[in-house]
Amino acid sequence: MSDGVVRDIPLAALEERYGRDVRQDVSELWLSQQLAASRTTLVCAVRHRGAQRIAGWVAALAEADGVARIAQGQLAAMAGLQRTSVCALLADLAGRGAVRVGRGKVAVHDRNLLLAESCGCAARLDRN
Ligand SMILES: [Zn+2]
Repeated sequence: MSDGVVRDIPLAALEERYGRDVRQDVSELWLSQQLAASRTTLVCAVRHRGAQRIAGWVAALAEADGVARIAQGQLAAMAGLQRTSVCALLADLAGRGAVRVGRGKVAVHDRNLLLAESCGCAARLDRN
């Protein structure tokens, strides 16, 4: 399973400097990070409501200009919800002035409200 992000790790240079075991160490570090992220996602899906998860993902994905460039289908996949549920949850947030929904994007208008609605799990994942 991959998050689609390719990371260039200079394994040859690391191996030259730290020895052969560095490849195993890097692999174990990557695996432990993936397991921690999976655990956080699973716990979030079990313990927190869909509205909390969507608010958190939108807040975490918003770029410097306040826009999260993501389709509702992608948000649904990340939050473990159906797209129609995400559409309804975003409409609720929009109705309360927290966001404005556009095609392939969600503009954050009230970040404090969005964060108050969020469970905070996405922010923890986003930092990793
Ligand atoms: Zn959560």
